[in-house]
Amino acid sequence: MTQRLRIEGRGPVAIALRLFLARQGFAPSTIAHEAFAEPIPAGVAARPLALSLGSTHLLSRIVALPEAAPIRTVDVSLAHHGGRTRIHAADLDSPTLGCVTRYAALHDVLVQALRRVERTTRAPSRFAPHASSEPGEADEIVVRADGDTRSPSARTLDFDQCALLAEVVVERDAPGVAFEHFTAQGPLALLPLPETRRRALVWCSTPQQTARRALLPPREFDDELLGAFGPALGTLRLAGERHRTPLQRRLAPREANPRCVAIGNAAQALHPVAGQGLNLGLRDAFELAQELGTAHAHGMPLENALVRFRRRRIGDRAATVGVTDTLARLFGWTALAPIQSVAFDVLDWSAPLRDRFAKALMFGLRSG
Ligand SMILES: Cc1cc2nc3c(=O)[nH]c(=O)nc-3n(C[C@H](O)[C@H](O)[C@H](O)COP(=O)(O)OP(=O)(O)OC[C@H]3O[C@@H](n4cnc5c(N)ncnc54)[C@H](O)[C@@H]3O)c2cc1C
Repeated sequence: MTQRLRIEGRGPVAIALRLFLARQGFAPSTIAHEAFAEPIPAGVAARPLALSLGSTHLLSRIVALPEAAPIRTVDVSLAHHGGRTRIHAADLDSPTLGCVTRYAALHDVLVQALRRVERTTRAPSRFAPHASSEPGEADEIVVRADGDTRSPSARTLDFDQCALLAEVVVERDAPGVAFEHFTAQGPLALLPLPETRRRALVWCSTPQQTARRALLPPREFDDELLGAFGPALGTLRLAGERHRTPLQRRLAPREANPRCVAIGNAAQALHPVAGQGLNLGLRDAFELAQELGTAHAHGMPLENALVRFRRRRIGDRAATVGVTDTLARLFGWTALAPIQSVAFDVLDWSAPLRDRFAKALMFGLRSG
């Protein structure tokens, strides 16, 4: 008897898993998943997503990538050190380090691809009407991919930061350059977007500062942003809505139920400083589909695949969480300013170290 899979979640990780599973030969009728439902909240849809090169390779197996701006250089600077280091794709013999797209655009191409898969097989996925997250049947496997660690016993690290998301029009563009500027209150990123002279802003700071900035009149906001970021892109002009997101790292506890597994943000929600959350989630989805596919092909119970998946993901997950937590906190501790400067200079002067770090961010930290 074919074991049934239930997938919870409608975000990019859940849908990517469905598409990877289709490539592994899972018929839609064996999967219960409600993928098409209410629209994504505006604050989530507006999120810019920096996709690593590894993620673009994974995604290109299942979709045509949405409109995106390539990243050829990452420019990292430290506000109270005045230093700057640059990571170039050319130094790594790669045309790009990755690209930036919008959450809504990526979600849309994934949904379209899923609709095509369902049309081709003429068998829409079965949705289990009960909303319970516990496996309903003895042979059912549940994959939690709903973007929410949920559990009260999740291991939480509060950064006392919120991210302010917005898009800005810049006076002078630097095509292909992603800027990450570390301030004492948190990182400020200005990422390239597909449209000329348009940039995505992710400005992390204390919840109080972020709330204040979200309400500033646009011209005052522009001035404050220019003061914080500096003149590298000329004047900066707010274009459109501002959104706020509280930032916490949350790690779901290990599932007690051997027939349940969590992937993507449902397993680990990270600070956006290194732009690794979705990249990690896509690797989760891909490797879980591979393990389930292997078990399916050999007529093995799918629980075995979950055991193998958990084991296989330990290294990548731990390394990505560790580096992201450290980056999110390290540059905010002014007492550590001398160490920050040393760390920064080492990164700037040591090309092998810098390249190793960049490769790790491009393909996953375990491989770095
Ligand atoms: C400011 C910011 C910038 C980021 N930048 C990057 C980046 O550059 N690169 C990268 O790899 N990752 C980035 N991430 C992380 C990335 O967005 C998540 O890791 C990714 O979306 C997880 O996908 P998922 O399918 O597991 O969860 P998702 O379903 O995307 O859920 C993520 C969050 O959105 C909420 N959400 C989604 N859909 C709905 C809905 N319909 N209703 C209510 N809530 C919903 C969830 O509750 C959850 O809190 C960023 C995150 C933030 C907060």
